Amino acid sequence: MDRSLVELEAIVRNRICKLCTERTIDGDCNLESPSSCALFRLFPQVARAIQSVQSDDIGPYIEAIRRNVCSVCQDQAGDGTCENRQQVQCALDAYLLLVVDAIEEATGKTFDKKTYHPSAGPVAQSGPQIRL
Ligand code: SF4
Ligand code: SF4
Repeated sequence: MDRSLVELEAIVRNRICKLCTERTIDGDCNLESPSSCALFRLFPQVARAIQSVQSDDIGPYIEAIRRNVCSVCQDQAGDGTCENRQQVQCALDAYLLLVVDAIEEATGKTFDKKTYHPSAGPVAQSGPQIRL
């Protein structure tokens, strides 16, 4: 199922922002600069990276995000590390499983979360501790 980037972003915002601890009770983003949220600042790259993968394992999605999104993100250091990621302060990384699920579902694919392998990476499964 083809979806425009605008549609996909709206679906992901609706799914993720309401779970994010930065969401205020008024439904706004409480970040000092909401446009700095890496998930939406780099959404075209995020959507392309996720749609380039076909797997029920989260590992290949993490690799695609690192390769195609983190590599162009201003927050990644030259050695490939990311302080925001280490501090669980990147919504994309913290909620990646849910972002993948939302995009796959919206485009008619299925992502079988039952095969999620925690050892695949440091991605938080629901990100309840995130502070951005
Ligand atoms: S930090 Fe990002 S994911 Fe969280 S509410 Fe703001 S825009 Fe949404
Ligand atoms: S994990 Fe770090 S480098 Fe990757 S998108 Fe998030 S803030 Fe950017």
